[in-house]
Amino acid sequence: MYESTRGNASGYTGKRAIALGMVPGGGLFVPMEIPRFDWEELKGKTYRELALRLLRLFLPDFESEVLDRAVGVYRKGVFDNMNPAPLKEAGADGVLELWHGPTAAFKDMALQVLPHLLTASLSDEPHREVLILTATSGDTGKAALEGFCNVDGTQIVVFYPHGGVSAVQERQMTTTEGQNAHVIAVEGNFDECQTAVKKIFSSDSMRRRLQEKNMTFSSANSINWGRLLPQIAYYYWAYLQAVEQGKVKPGETLNVVVPTGNFGNILAGYYAKEMGLPIARLICASNKNKVLTDFFATGVYDSQRPFYLTISPSMDILISSNFERFLYEMSGRDAEKIQAWYNDLATKGVFQVDAQTLERSRDIMYAGWADEDEVLKEIQERYAQQGYVFDPHTAVAAKVYGDYRRKTGDFRYTIIVSTASPFKFAGNVYRGITGKAPEDEWEALEELSRLTGWEIPRGLRGLTTRSERPLTLCRPEEIGSVLARLFGL
Ligand SMILES: *Cc1c(COP(=O)(O)O)cnc(C)c1O
Repeated sequence: MYESTRGNASGYTGKRAIALGMVPGGGLFVPMEIPRFDWEELKGKTYRELALRLLRLFLPDFESEVLDRAVGVYRKGVFDNMNPAPLKEAGADGVLELWHGPTAAFKDMALQVLPHLLTASLSDEPHREVLILTATSGDTGKAALEGFCNVDGTQIVVFYPHGGVSAVQERQMTTTEGQNAHVIAVEGNFDECQTAVKKIFSSDSMRRRLQEKNMTFSSANSINWGRLLPQIAYYYWAYLQAVEQGKVKPGETLNVVVPTGNFGNILAGYYAKEMGLPIARLICASNKNKVLTDFFATGVYDSQRPFYLTISPSMDILISSNFERFLYEMSGRDAEKIQAWYNDLATKGVFQVDAQTLERSRDIMYAGWADEDEVLKEIQERYAQQGYVFDPHTAVAAKVYGDYRRKTGDFRYTIIVSTASPFKFAGNVYRGITGKAPEDEWEALEELSRLTGWEIPRGLRGLTTRSERPLTLCRPEEIGSVLARLFGL
């Protein structure tokens, strides 16, 4: 059963939590109990079997055929391999490659599964069609468009910051084919997109107008529990591979470093740790938008600061939605505190937590950040010394991990979670490795492949020759009227 981080909902089934996406009136759904999940019982299982056990544990109200079908996406054809999340090596470090799905970013790991969970959740609700609203900093958009492409009973609208995503990311979205897909560029940054979309979700009048059309809202962002849950599986999978490869002895702890934006990925790692996976430290890596690093240093979450567009655009976020779920646990599940802090965030853009919450947070997580030059340098050095090609997001994590080792002397085996194929950000990766700017972003894909001998992922080939949708541009405050026009609300 699920409850709200803000104390305004309790005893919801998995289906209802997933169908709603977020708690009406504000707050996020969290499991009322975090079960234990023993990694030793998963030895010898396939990824699909592991994921199925995990989903069963958290979603007992789902029919078993639905869950079988949901994890059926973890197969060759959808992913490059039977192993959708291989653990590789870069020097002495592990790299968990999560970008072997259709859109070449880790979002596929959950967004291929979510449509199965969501449509099953809605079969109990008295609505005909679900309208999925998604704000994207670049990768969620395309992964959601792929996951929901022509899924019956769904319409999907993706909002992305105009000029705030990479050329490849934008082209991936604008060449989407689904009849039920809508792609809108917003004149603003990701936070402005996400805040505007959240406002629509919590608007009673919008909900009523949708109901009149026999429609209902849901979300494909990681505020939706159905998006977060499948991500827990790959932390277990990473550990099993580390044991199999002899990197750790059975039961020995390891560290995990996660390039972080909306805090969904690392939160899944936190749940895995709580469920009994031997993780010592979770390392939260940010780019120049280092609101989380500052939080761990001071206990103050301050979103009132300049917003930087970086070469790791999927982490250009100042309001990390899932941090609310983490603080809920760190505060000892104190919904009143969460309510007060998030009121402060909404009204003043800043809040401060109590000393005990901060201390607990620091016990579990270490946070650091990397600036743009450091990221390029990391890409260069890792390639020169280890022959491994890091994308800029993963390079942020690799750099922060180096700082962590130097600072703490903790030399334990560590897994860097790799969130995107380097080809998704080919221009900057090429620049990092060679010190030279490529002709253009499309040329860079080919050049990077020639230089490194790495193959361009399937989903990124032929992007320039596909036909593009006409650009629809709006301001954040116009999102409501765009929806009204699209769906006759
Ligand atoms: C979404 C994304 C991130 C950030 O993940 P969160 O779960 O939002 O913290 C990091 N890297 C890449 C490539 C992404 O697409």
